[in-house]
Amino acid sequence: MKRIKLLCFDLDDTLWLSKPVILRAEEIFYTYLADNAPALTEQFSPESLRAHRLAFLARYPHFKHQISQWRIHSLTEALELSGYQDQSANIAKRAFDVFLAARQQISLFPYTEDVISTLSENYTLISLTNGNADLQQHSIGRYFSASYQAEDVNAAKPDAALFLKALEHSGCKPEEAIHIGDHAIDDISGAKALGFLAIQACLTPDSPEPATLADDHFRDWRELPDKIRQLSSR
Ligand SMILES: [Mg+2]
Repeated sequence: MKRIKLLCFDLDDTLWLSKPVILRAEEIFYTYLADNAPALTEQFSPESLRAHRLAFLARYPHFKHQISQWRIHSLTEALELSGYQDQSANIAKRAFDVFLAARQQISLFPYTEDVISTLSENYTLISLTNGNADLQQHSIGRYFSASYQAEDVNAAKPDAALFLKALEHSGCKPEEAIHIGDHAIDDISGAKALGFLAIQACLTPDSPEPATLADDHFRDWRELPDKIRQLSSR
């Protein structure tokens, strides 16, 4: 009998390279603000707006795992400081929607969709992300039976909450699950602490050496099915 039933996947830097996506989304976000709230962009450069967002989090730490609400509320405050008063919340929400739509414009790593499609025939697939990418806006989303964000459980990996959510949804035990992700702490340590197996994705140009805790790693999506099979029969 096959031991592994559940595969959990991180998203950013595991299914796609995240840096260009975020940089482009930030650019589109700022351009939208320059067009729709020029008094804000006269007062805040992209860098100082980011610094304001970080300072806002230091004052309101409860937004730490609510990254969408954090961006909306900190922007609302920056708009108020720029003189937008009553319109601030509305402008902030629209600008956030523009950011979020741009943030979904991802390019999968080569072979990702083929491999995910094949794996979905034999395993339950669930995505677990600390970010706000929405897998259901991409065609690859149809292969996943559930997708959870840190915002859903108000806790980011390596905290157990997202991993537990995947176990609860699938009805699997940790020893029946492999988590696949790029981050040594958030993905590998987090999953291993609960008794999952863990495979590290080393796919970005600046990927560090795989974590010693990782059960295996891969540098090309075509390597992954064999690595899963090997762990599954171990
Ligand atoms: Mg990641």
